[in-house]
Amino acid sequence: MTRETMVKNETARAGNETEELTDGFHLVIDALKLNGIGTIYGVPGIPITDLGRMAQAAGIRVISFRHEQNAGNAAAIAGFLTKKPGICLTVSAPGFLNGLTALANATTNCFPMILISGSSEREIVDLQQGDYEEMDQLAIAKPLCKAAFRVLHAADIGIGVARAIRAALSGRPGGVYLDLPAKLFSQVMNAEAGRKSLVKVIDAAPAQIPAPAAIRRALDLLKSAKRPLVILGKGAAYAQADEAIRAFIEKSGIPFLPMSMAKGLLPDTHPQCAGAARSTVLKDSDVVLLIGARLNWLLSHGKGKAWGEAGTKRFIQIDIEPKEMDSNVAIAAPIVGDIGSSVTALLEAMGEWPAPPADWLGAVKAKKEENIAKMAPKLMKNSAPMDFHSALGALRNVIKERPDAILVNEGANTLDLARGVIDMYQPRKRLDVGTWGVMGIGMGFAIGAAIETGKPVLAVEGDSAFGFSGMEVETICRYNLPVCVVVFNNNGIYRGTDVNAGGGADPATTVFVKGARYDRLMEAFGGVGIQAETPDELKRAVDAAMDSGRPTLVNAVIDPAAGSESGRIGNLNPQSALRKK
Ligand code: ADP
Ligand code: MG
Repeated sequence: MTRETMVKNETARAGNETEELTDGFHLVIDALKLNGIGTIYGVPGIPITDLGRMAQAAGIRVISFRHEQNAGNAAAIAGFLTKKPGICLTVSAPGFLNGLTALANATTNCFPMILISGSSEREIVDLQQGDYEEMDQLAIAKPLCKAAFRVLHAADIGIGVARAIRAALSGRPGGVYLDLPAKLFSQVMNAEAGRKSLVKVIDAAPAQIPAPAAIRRALDLLKSAKRPLVILGKGAAYAQADEAIRAFIEKSGIPFLPMSMAKGLLPDTHPQCAGAARSTVLKDSDVVLLIGARLNWLLSHGKGKAWGEAGTKRFIQIDIEPKEMDSNVAIAAPIVGDIGSSVTALLEAMGEWPAPPADWLGAVKAKKEENIAKMAPKLMKNSAPMDFHSALGALRNVIKERPDAILVNEGANTLDLARGVIDMYQPRKRLDVGTWGVMGIGMGFAIGAAIETGKPVLAVEGDSAFGFSGMEVETICRYNLPVCVVVFNNNGIYRGTDVNAGGGADPATTVFVKGARYDRLMEAFGGVGIQAETPDELKRAVDAAMDSGRPTLVNAVIDPAAGSESGRIGNLNPQSALRKK
């Protein structure tokens, strides 16, 4: 505890001896610092304004946003990138609710995060007497996160913070809510007793060693495969077991398919990468090893047309969460354990490992080459206006030349096409809409990634997606972050060409102002704004931004007719057969 954090109270006790005191504000800050938390993302206001100020004074980096959802998304992605819980700090009721969307999204994505919200007084909330921003926040948060706690006494702050950290990090990571009523902050206690009440969490995410029998069962099945496939998910990226995963994949010789946030764990240009033959390997493989990837909608639940003939596929799954097994289809060889320990155990027990059958490797390679050749000319067109492919072709080269830059990506067509077009070369460099496919993560993720890594960030945003967090360009300028935002501006959602089906004066529901200049938003706050109409202009603008590290927004003019409905997941957007064309 520093001198400033001491509260002297000369008259506190009979006998007039001096007692060193501390309070709730300082205990929260000290508890976070003790556990190595160096950054808080949030929005100031009642009752946590002073907490932010004092945290900054105590050497914690406090990043203030314009909206809590974006602060929450920054905290969530900080958790994914660092394996430490990202902290989001909000005011009560509405601020809490705004942060809750990010907390629920973090939980769904298995990102460790702690949402700390100030709240109103229990006595008034529980009697529903109508307090300022009254809300029973703990009850509301509970079903939407992994764990939720409330601290009522300053002496319990250390335990409360420790429980939150452990809940966020252990087992399957996720979001935790910590409710701190306003009155807690000004509670005073003896400083020495306060110090002793703090808890430094030891081994918050203990290794979970898989059972040797599970490893043998998995290797027997994998060895028997004629057409094996490994699928890498973002759990594998989160685990930071990059060397073990690479060694295992290379020793096995098995083709691998990265899920979108696992791209770059091994380079997309690796000879075993089957990304460009995705449909073929899903359909034709016979044994599939999932490493930190769930068989949810993003993998068609492991069944149906995408997976070929029903009942022919056998699955091996590595996951830290036992209940994930058999969630969609039967898992023939479950491995419950952390990914680092599990992949290392596989590697050690492999022994002499035969190469997969040559006809399978040949078939995957042929399909890959065919698809890559088909795509190539689309990426090289230097046309105006640009379409998605020609614009992405330019950005693909940016990342190729700057493999340590971080790519943030959201939108419909902008997302689906970028995922396939832009190759990644290093782990945890691609951050996107994740498990929910949610829009609005863009600026929060970009800011969180820039703060946590210090690397340049390229955020490739659909114009609609950008709108959800666009005001944070002010935050980017205020902290002078090396973020280059590219808005794929096609005048609307999916396309900019829809017309009002009723023939009235109102625009169609899916279109925006035509020819909008998003670049001027960045200029308004002192950043660089550029309009790009050709792939060459786009490449030049982004290169300049990445070289200078200055906050930049490039308005990339995309043909309004180029997009398709819902990008590649149009099947999830029901359309009325009775709709007027
Ligand atoms: P993707 O969307 O990329 O397929 P998912 O989010 O569906 O990835 O799956 C990630 C999985 O990884 C989750 O089931 C989660 O329980 C698991 N996971 C996360 N961290 C670890 C870890 N350290 N060890 C093992 N499994 C993990
Ligand atoms: Mg659009």
